[in-house]
Amino acid sequence: MIPPIASRFVAGETPAELLEHVSQLEEKGVRTICNRLGEHYEQPEPAREDRDAYCDLLADIDNAGLGACISVKPSQIGLGIGEETFRENLGAIVDRAATHGKFVWIDMEDHPTTDATLDAYADHATEYERVGVCVQANLKRTPEDLRRLADLPGKVRLVKGAYDEPAAIAHRKKSGVNEAYRDCLDLMFEEFDGGIAVGSHDPAMIEHATRRHEELGTDFEIQMLMGVREEAQIELAEEYDVWQYAPYGGKWLSYFYRRTMERKENLTFALRAIVGR
Ligand code: FAD
Repeated sequence: MIPPIASRFVAGETPAELLEHVSQLEEKGVRTICNRLGEHYEQPEPAREDRDAYCDLLADIDNAGLGACISVKPSQIGLGIGEETFRENLGAIVDRAATHGKFVWIDMEDHPTTDATLDAYADHATEYERVGVCVQANLKRTPEDLRRLADLPGKVRLVKGAYDEPAAIAHRKKSGVNEAYRDCLDLMFEEFDGGIAVGSHDPAMIEHATRRHEELGTDFEIQMLMGVREEAQIELAEEYDVWQYAPYGGKWLSYFYRRTMERKENLTFALRAIVGR
């Protein structure tokens, strides 16, 4: 069992706990992007285990009649071992998703993995339209990547970027990242036929996207993390397509630590839970 202190950010240790969360969220109009916690594997065995766990989860989601999808980290299914292992495991997951008519997102990790991730996505997107990839507005290369992705049938999630990247290739100041995020949104709303996912909790970015949607009519969805602005997620779902990214699994401690340390209010929440006030 996940201790109550971490259950704000993590949907459970087991698929059964996760699916209970998915089902409760669906009643509130929000669908779930399920992520099994795990990353940076250097051996094939844990990568295969997570691949198989995702395949089983896709079947469980289908059997339960739920509208959830999954999101996979490249380094959790073998990119750290080699591109061939990554592609083999991703292929098995996408095949299983196709059997169940489910959607597969590919998360984006640090910049040395960008090309391999986008290339694998591009190959799958031309074969199966229910795949999506994440791109990071902090990377200076992203507008060019978006122009290439605009012609593919899948979906693209735009995030600000969670990795500490060098100044030569990335915007590092908050204001620069926000400006780049807005520019990328403009490009997507103008050049994509739809399939835009706004992966941000930032009310300013969400407002920018809704304005572009009203002007240009391009379809989009909003994605936020479990435990962050959840009331806003439910409110936005009355008008827009909203998805919550919900991690689950036994490796929750380091994820919980990251979420807690990134914002003062999350740290206060955790400390209050410890001292019981
Ligand atoms: P921030 O700049 O962190 O915050 C801006 C504003 O948002 C704040 O001023 C506040 O108004 C509001 N806000 C933010 N957090 C909170 C909070 N806890 N409570 C209340 N208000 C808050 N990164 C990757 O590099 N690769 C990925 O594959 C990836 N996938 C993601 C998937 C999803 C669905 C999401 C939501 C994020 C993902 N990220 C990913 C992380 C992303 O890159 C950012 O690090 C993260 O979302 C924080 O940026 P932000 O846009 O939310 O805005």
